[in-house]
Amino acid sequence: MEPDSPRPRIAVVGGGVSGLTAARELAVAGADVVVIEGSERLGGRIRGAALAGTTIDIGAESFATRGGTVAELIDELGLSDQVVRPAPLGSWVIDGARSIPLPAAGTLGIPAQPLSRATVRALGMPGALRAAVEPLLPRSVGSEAGSLAELVRARLGSRALHRLVRPVALGVYSADPERLGVATVPGLAAAYAKRGTLIAAARDLRDGQAAAGGAVAGLRGGMTQLIDGLEADVRRRGVAVLRGTKARRIEARETAAAGAGGWLVLGDDDAVLAAADRVVLAVPENVARRLVGETGAAGQATDRIEVVALAIDDPRLDRAPRGTGALVARDAVGAGARRASGAAPILAKALTHVTAKWPERAREAGPGRHIVRLSYGRAGSAPETVGLDDAEVRGIARYDASRILGVDLRADTVVDLVRCTWRMGRPPGSRDARPFTAPAGVTLAGDWVSGTGLAAIVQGARTAAAAALAASH
Ligand SMILES: Cc1cc2nc3c(=O)[nH]c(=O)nc-3n(C[C@H](O)[C@H](O)[C@H](O)COP(=O)(O)OP(=O)(O)OC[C@H]3O[C@@H](n4cnc5c(N)ncnc54)[C@H](O)[C@@H]3O)c2cc1C
Repeated sequence: MEPDSPRPRIAVVGGGVSGLTAARELAVAGADVVVIEGSERLGGRIRGAALAGTTIDIGAESFATRGGTVAELIDELGLSDQVVRPAPLGSWVIDGARSIPLPAAGTLGIPAQPLSRATVRALGMPGALRAAVEPLLPRSVGSEAGSLAELVRARLGSRALHRLVRPVALGVYSADPERLGVATVPGLAAAYAKRGTLIAAARDLRDGQAAAGGAVAGLRGGMTQLIDGLEADVRRRGVAVLRGTKARRIEARETAAAGAGGWLVLGDDDAVLAAADRVVLAVPENVARRLVGETGAAGQATDRIEVVALAIDDPRLDRAPRGTGALVARDAVGAGARRASGAAPILAKALTHVTAKWPERAREAGPGRHIVRLSYGRAGSAPETVGLDDAEVRGIARYDASRILGVDLRADTVVDLVRCTWRMGRPPGSRDARPFTAPAGVTLAGDWVSGTGLAAIVQGARTAAAAALAASH
């Protein structure tokens, strides 16, 4: 910026990690920034919740270390010594009555070593052999595929799709791979285009990482540390942070400066919340569409999930029977599975054994106490737990945790429960994605723009901030 040029005024709508990261970038560059957050709490889908005397992450709990983007931000905020690593225990897939360790070297369940013992265990020998021929198939196989599922089915076979890729996609993206495009998975499309085979692409992406869930890290005390750090940092830099202030729409305005335009951010009863040269919308997709006046935005598809966390006193869980956790294949739900196992189906789609995954959490919880986090709600259907009271949900979650962990948990060992419902956006590259043309002077940030996961969205927020600054000159 020129030393004597006026500071651009930039309004950031949304005080989640995207909005706060964008605000920080803008403030560092010398802009005059206001963050407008609709709720009383900053952080959006990063949120802490009280459970049995501790605070757990009830939203995002970790970040991918890929690219170093989040680690760099954490470093800049002075939080590097708070970074914690998960225990290298691996995770599992529950498929009907079977529990299978997830092959370690894979990307989104695409096996990097199709004939490894773990992959053969997961797919059976016929399924593993089918997957193993993939590098020999001509590039044309799967070239017509319209979704990730079609591509995986064509190249690796149905077993790899149903037993590995689908449960992992449902766990990571809360979306069926039939609805996802290859572009959803960061780096996969480029690696596949380069190598021409999914197995080689998966190998490239894994890049030597060992854990099945990818290389991730967390923060001691929870991911809310990142939000607290960002808030303190932006305030120190003079950013105004408004909470409990919902933006209802944005309106282009004429200013005295020739052709400069600018924007008003309007709240309830058209009250002016901010007048700015540029606006960064760091809100979910449906909100962004509504703010720019797109009609029909309210009806746009978002899937809900419910996270249910239990504190359980049972030392039998000390041995971490499912490692850091398990994903439940769709096949485990429904009449087939019920007939096969003689038991009621598992309704949860995933379980994280928090105290096994994060040794720090185990120390905090104390001997014999365990925290598990279950998630409910598959693409296209409401979570089975929504609308039920806590006692009913406690029963369902205890049953599911028992089945998944292979340990019959008694009711009196469940000492506490906390639950939270979330709306999940549509990842970019989804088959039903709709184009969004941002008006001049408005830039977008968030997982629906840059891809799921903090690594992608922190980078996306920086890009959005840079675009807003460039447009300000
Ligand atoms: C249960 C769960 C687990 C997850 N686990 C992980 C994980 O382990 N690792 C990972 O990398 N990612 C994870 N994610 C995804 C990650 O949490 C999100 O991608 C990320 O937090 C999104 O940040 P954001 O700032 O883009 O959006 P949000 O966090 O949704 O923030 C948007 C903000 O905008 C505000 N807002 C909405 N409407 C308005 C309005 N009209 N006016 C003003 N403000 C408004 C909201 O209140 C909110 O604070 C998880 C998500 C969930 C739900």
